[in-house]
Amino acid sequence: MAKKAKTKREKIILECTECKNRNYNSTKNKANDPERIEIKKYCPTCRKTTAHKETK
Ligand SMILES: [Zn+2]
Repeated sequence: MAKKAKTKREKIILECTECKNRNYNSTKNKANDPERIEIKKYCPTCRKTTAHKETK
């Protein structure tokens, strides 16, 4: 049985700030992160770790 989430999780896409590739799909808790988040992740296009920003 699926657990009903109490907090609202929002689907986000993480886009590389260097090549603008959309590399990752993720979710975030809007209560914890009302602003757009930025995470360092590996970008296969840049072939290095870059900052990935939330996009829609
Ligand atoms: Zn990139």
